[in-house]
Amino acid sequence: MAQPRPQHRESDHPAPPMNNGDLIEIDNLKKYFPIQSGFLRRHVGDVRAVDGVTFSIRRGETLGLVGESGCGKTTTGRLIARIFEPTDGSIRISTNGDATDVASLRGEGLHDYWRRVQVIFQDPYSSLNPRRTVSQIIAEPLVCLTEMSAAERRDRVGELLELVGLDPRHAERYPHAFSGGQRQRIGIARGIALNPELLVADEAVSALDVSIQGQIINLMVRLQRELELTYLFVSHDLGIVKHISDRIAVMYVGKLVELCSADGMFRRPRHPYTEALLSAVPRPNPKAKAARILLPGDVADPANKPPGCPFHPRCRYAQEVCAQDEPEWRNVGDEEHRHLVACHFADTLELKGVLQAETTAGTTQ
Ligand code: SF4
Repeated sequence: MAQPRPQHRESDHPAPPMNNGDLIEIDNLKKYFPIQSGFLRRHVGDVRAVDGVTFSIRRGETLGLVGESGCGKTTTGRLIARIFEPTDGSIRISTNGDATDVASLRGEGLHDYWRRVQVIFQDPYSSLNPRRTVSQIIAEPLVCLTEMSAAERRDRVGELLELVGLDPRHAERYPHAFSGGQRQRIGIARGIALNPELLVADEAVSALDVSIQGQIINLMVRLQRELELTYLFVSHDLGIVKHISDRIAVMYVGKLVELCSADGMFRRPRHPYTEALLSAVPRPNPKAKAARILLPGDVADPANKPPGCPFHPRCRYAQEVCAQDEPEWRNVGDEEHRHLVACHFADTLELKGVLQAETTAGTTQ
């Protein structure tokens, strides 16, 4: 049986109401890591890991957040989980219909937030302490953030192990006794131990074999249905994200470049970077491999971004304006099916998606 969700405290800083249906709203969120140099460690610049991202996550949905390594997606997830403090911008979570400003939370208010928002980490091998038993690992958030007795924690750990498809009799074993997929199930059990509302899954299946990836995705889909969870699913792989996401956001050097429904993005991407990522998604039709778009050069340096559109040095559709003016973040869909994109030519470019037949063939649900 699922744990009751915690009662939320009233915020000391009431904020304007949130959009109906949104669990969490991110507005112009930034995280800069200072660069220091010299003996006196003078501040000489910033790595702009997250540089003004705005989006919301609806209650009960899965939002996929994708992009190449170093694009800022993991940092965004950690800001939302309040593992990092933002440099600027706001994160608001819906609390009994009102908005709570997450940045203002301290002490017990922050503990409440951590009961509501939990993280599943990337690597099932390094994210579990090898010196602790599975029971101790899963019970950790219960020890830190609840007042459960030892007996209650033991019962809850058994319940969680069953929920993620593991044998409760193995609770006193150590992580090395489990396979990669089983370890990720243990990480998921720890993530849902407090019955959170939002789970940030940071590359949750990237370190696993393809066949195991499918099992973990199916487990996450089932848990979402049974526990009414909301997911932010962070991954570098659009092919994985499409199996689980309702909407997908694409990030490039600290900024969002496209956000829309998963189906809309696979049918008709509107940003050239998304088109290139989609071209790398494996397809059932082997002839489709010929269409792969290889981007020239490396991802831009987040400490020294190019002017204008940050993607312009790699974009095969770039024109003069792209090197001068940064494209605005705008809706090119309608109000019901919003399709947000940052590209000067999103209305006119005819970009290639993945054919509907191929999308359907790869779907696991
Ligand atoms: Fe390419 Fe220009 Fe669009 Fe940037 S704004 S993605 S450089 S076409």
